[in-house]
Amino acid sequence: MAEEIRREWFEKDYYEVLGVPKNATAAEIKKAYRKLAQKHHPDANAGDPKAEERFKEVSAAYDVLGDEEKRAAYDRVREMGAGGFGAGFPGAGGTGFEGAPGGFRYETVDIGDLSDLFGGMFGGSRGRARRPQARQRRGADLETEVRLSFDDAMSGVTIPVTLDGPAVCTTCHGSGAAPGTQPVVCATCGGAGQVAVNQGFFQMEQTCPTCSGTGRTIETPCPTCHGSGAVRRSRTVKVKVPAGVKDGARIRVAGRGEPGGPGGQAGDLYVRVRVGEHPVFGRSGDNLTVDLPVSYPEAALGANVKVPTLNGPVTLKVPAGTPSGKTFRVKGKGAPKRGGHGDLLVTVNVDVPKKLSKREKELLAELRDAETESPRAELGVS
Ligand SMILES: [Zn+2]
Ligand SMILES: [Zn+2]
Repeated sequence: MAEEIRREWFEKDYYEVLGVPKNATAAEIKKAYRKLAQKHHPDANAGDPKAEERFKEVSAAYDVLGDEEKRAAYDRVREMGAGGFGAGFPGAGGTGFEGAPGGFRYETVDIGDLSDLFGGMFGGSRGRARRPQARQRRGADLETEVRLSFDDAMSGVTIPVTLDGPAVCTTCHGSGAAPGTQPVVCATCGGAGQVAVNQGFFQMEQTCPTCSGTGRTIETPCPTCHGSGAVRRSRTVKVKVPAGVKDGARIRVAGRGEPGGPGGQAGDLYVRVRVGEHPVFGRSGDNLTVDLPVSYPEAALGANVKVPTLNGPVTLKVPAGTPSGKTFRVKGKGAPKRGGHGDLLVTVNVDVPKKLSKREKELLAELRDAETESPRAELGVS
């Protein structure tokens, strides 16, 4: 497989991402990757977009550093630095690859060419030119939003998401070729997807104009999709939402985005989850919260009171002398999370009745008169 220089290589320090030194051994890199991948794995951090981001970053870093050849290419690119590259690269606009004329695409620069160009800088040890590999167009990622009830978010649910737009053509199954025919190797580039263009002293690779870089051409286009491999229609994707999903979480459904060009990979579907409110429970991370009214006698004398939870009421012991606003933790009665549940945080509020019976008034007046010290004594007033 041809090595490819990616723009990201200039911007990202993969060693830093994996937390290993530049001279780390392959085993050290693998170990660091495993540790980080486990820690940030989406399964272990359901609905945490930061972890997902980090996981991607770590995977991208290992994809390069974990491969001896890619790592060597990366090291050389890093050594060169983005500035040096832009300045030294013929035909490039002076700022690296951006704005490069002539349809030159940075994604498909072959390391063989770089070795040739910069052979002197690298000692010419890997000057053997390689043919670039054709690239099939990858489909676009899609993003959509679903709304869930609080209860569905707690229990987890599989929901059908309907998407309108490009979908795989069912006549040709995405190949773009009429039934009974196949795409053929591009005659212009011989399947490489790139053609050599002479630019003065240097020879550069350019995307093949005949096949647009795919390396394949279609002689008899599919009558349904006219060769694109995709048609616009409505399709339904079943999305599994894990129990305990948080409002705002983004779920990735791999390969369910837009279809790629003929032979290309589909994009991914990202589903943003919106969770409705619950009339009783609030949410704080993996914990649920509930405000629990108690009477003054219950707070003052202590009481066993019923507290609602997701699966039926439990009894909470409110100790004598509990101040209003105090929060109690009921273990394991919160939102589902990997390996268990969060807790239920119960905040007691002393309830002051707005309406009193005659009897209650008498008793409260008696209580007031029986109190030996004003509650405001500490403030120096009474
Ligand atoms: Zn071609
Ligand atoms: Zn078709």
